[in-house]
Amino acid sequence: MTIQVFRTVRELRQWRRSLPFEDSLGFVPTMGALHDGHISLVSKCLEENDHTVVSIFVNPSQFAPNEDLNSYPRTFPQDLERLQEIMVNGHGVDAIFAPTVPEMYPSGITLQVEEQKGAFVSVLGLSEQLEGKTRPNFFRGVATVVTKLFNAVGCDKAYFGQKDIQQTVVLKRMVRDLLMPVEIVVLPIVREDSGLAMSSRNTYLSAGLRSKSSDIYLALNKGKEQYHKGGDRDSILKAVLDTLTDDSFQVDYVSLADPVELQEVVGSVDKTTGAILSIAVYVKEDGRTTRLIDNVILQ
Ligand code: AMP
Repeated sequence: MTIQVFRTVRELRQWRRSLPFEDSLGFVPTMGALHDGHISLVSKCLEENDHTVVSIFVNPSQFAPNEDLNSYPRTFPQDLERLQEIMVNGHGVDAIFAPTVPEMYPSGITLQVEEQKGAFVSVLGLSEQLEGKTRPNFFRGVATVVTKLFNAVGCDKAYFGQKDIQQTVVLKRMVRDLLMPVEIVVLPIVREDSGLAMSSRNTYLSAGLRSKSSDIYLALNKGKEQYHKGGDRDSILKAVLDTLTDDSFQVDYVSLADPVELQEVVGSVDKTTGAILSIAVYVKEDGRTTRLIDNVILQ
């Protein structure tokens, strides 16, 4: 299966305009270094749409100056090969959009937020808590790049993973508030056999630490057990934290939040709305620190 690779918005739009008007276009945005989690999104997109575009773009504006923009894995040839292999109901990915940074940021982009110029998108009230506490400009970067990508691709539906659950809540609010004609589809977390949530950043871990990091999912499941036993916020969070005692782990946050406004639950979870139990953990070895996130839905 030959996939077209577009590097410019102009080429992509030209192709988009050549599609029959009534055909549906699905879109899977990624930063590349594709794994089975990404592939699950692509498969669902192929299943539900006449045409599928996958983007591969490591977006600078969602990285802070002290983060891993430069070392983030870039594996375009392998990504292309993986995408070429997927076929669902006899059809595969039509196009990859892999733009350059200047193509996506015509006004330029610096990681120093105070020095940035041009247009950015913020989703207030949902971007400051959880991930936003440690990464204050992260969701501004995500909302901005997803807006640009939606404008470039012209998709009907876009596919995201529950792995980045706050991102899905932010983006759903963004398309609603900015009247974007795109449906956001959220799919379950794909895990390694050990239970560790798949992530492009897992490649930073040694085999030993990777295996140990499956404790993160184990810990979330201990919290879930507490919830099903009728436990309140404190006992749920305690069950999670008590499971992560290894010296390699430093918990950034554990959160039990409502799934719409992402406000911390006080007391017991409201069974009618359920809750998101989420976590970010720094895992450390030999002077290298990797930040992993995971979550489970309590309902
Ligand atoms: P990324 O390349 O990390 O920006 O991720 C691109 C998309 O893949 C996002 O919507 C992620 O939530 C999703 N994704 C990442 N890891 C997983 C996973 N383990 N299972 C399902 N989706 C995932």
